[in-house]
Amino acid sequence: MKEINAADFEQEVLMSEKAVVDFYSTECPPCEALAPKFEALAGIYGEQVKFIKIFRQQNRDLAEQLGVKSSPTLLFYHNGKQVGDRLTGGIKKSDIVANLNLLLPASEIQRFAERQKPIMTSFDVAVLGGGPAGLTAALYLCQAKINTVLIDIALPGGQVATTHQVSNYPGFIEPQLGYMLSHQMSEQTKLCGTSYKVAVDVAKVDLLQKQIVIDEFETIQAKMIVIATGASPRLIGIPGENEFKGKGISYCATCDAKYFHEKEAVIIGGGNTAIEESEFISKFASKITIIHQFDKLTANKTAQDKAFANPKITFMLESEPRAIEKAGDRMRTTVENLKTGQRTIVESDGIFIFVGMSPNTGLFGKVLTYDPWGYINTDEDMQTNIEGIYAVGDVRSKKYRQITTAVADGTIAAIAITRKIDLTS
Ligand SMILES: Cc1cc2nc3c(=O)[nH]c(=O)nc-3n(C[C@H](O)[C@H](O)[C@H](O)COP(=O)(O)OP(=O)(O)OC[C@H]3O[C@@H](n4cnc5c(N)ncnc54)[C@H](O)[C@@H]3O)c2cc1C
Repeated sequence: MKEINAADFEQEVLMSEKAVVDFYSTECPPCEALAPKFEALAGIYGEQVKFIKIFRQQNRDLAEQLGVKSSPTLLFYHNGKQVGDRLTGGIKKSDIVANLNLLLPASEIQRFAERQKPIMTSFDVAVLGGGPAGLTAALYLCQAKINTVLIDIALPGGQVATTHQVSNYPGFIEPQLGYMLSHQMSEQTKLCGTSYKVAVDVAKVDLLQKQIVIDEFETIQAKMIVIATGASPRLIGIPGENEFKGKGISYCATCDAKYFHEKEAVIIGGGNTAIEESEFISKFASKITIIHQFDKLTANKTAQDKAFANPKITFMLESEPRAIEKAGDRMRTTVENLKTGQRTIVESDGIFIFVGMSPNTGLFGKVLTYDPWGYINTDEDMQTNIEGIYAVGDVRSKKYRQITTAVADGTIAAIAITRKIDLTS
């Protein structure tokens, strides 16, 4: 694996037979989550493929030239030509492998796959998800001397890691950087002695057998499982969204706002996250247009007052985006005024979408019961309809989703599990 600058790009990448390039940034949780996977794969595939890292903030012109609009971005090259998918955001190991395989002859693909032997590991409790809820559950379990593993597809921290500032988590006089707050939570849980398996692919979860398969070759057997997989940004589902995700459309201000110095941004949404993150993006951007479907914002009053007083922010209320296109480097958002039906095109350098969240339950299937919005039902102890399977935090059916309620859920589940394990052992 090699770190290079723009000046060496031609020699190291374009003139190589096979190369994969990681454009990364600092203070970028998905970049940190990718780093150990990239390094591990370099150890396996490095004899055939060059693994190159480029620090995007110091090589902005090259990044722009290659259309890299989001960190991290992985690009795959074969004899100087880009091939395969452009991977961005929370990148899965299996997606990287699929694209590396495109660079290799069939005989080599099998040889590399065989280098990973299946293994089985056992724990008392597996906590799936390392946001505030999962970290708290793991901390309490670890302090109760219960053999616990924390598994996350990214680095621990959850949504807090990508939140600019948190001002309502008790115990801190000043607002805390979300990144730092989640770091402290994670270090506390890790220092206790919890086993960490983070930045892994979670390929399969069998809740009835209480088995979790990670990175395709390791099966984790647990006596109990705590589901703490949280929620992810909801997509708006308009033409262009999938195509330009990570190529002009972002869902993470902490990751991408810094690239908007003196640039124009469109923000879609009018709730707390949209308005608070607009304020943060306005520290970099020269102009922000907020598109919101209702005639009033739904964010809290303080955030609204700040946004209305911010000269860089303008509003398109009672309006909805209908399509997103790209013209050269500029993004074009078609916006419909819901009162008049009139459509206008808003040009910008990039678009941020903040229109709510949906629960991360895709791996659990029909064995669990859910509320009408897809959140997992639990009892007061956070136990689901399956004995020994708990759900905590934002993924659980409840009224208020905050860091404090997530840590409370994690606490309750861990204490309930501790009592149960004490009784059965
Ligand atoms: C922009 C923004 C600002 C916010 N600001 C505040 C605030 O100021 N104050 C406040 O109290 N709350 C705030 N919230 C809400 C708060 O962040 C959440 O309520 C809280 O993070 C929920 O914690 P959680 O642990 O349940 O889930 P999450 O934080 O969502 O963490 C879930 C974790 O599970 C992992 N995961 C997902 N799928 C899998 C899988 N299949 N296998 C393994 N791991 C998986 C994820 O990678 C993640 O690390 C904010 C949210 C956002 C988006």
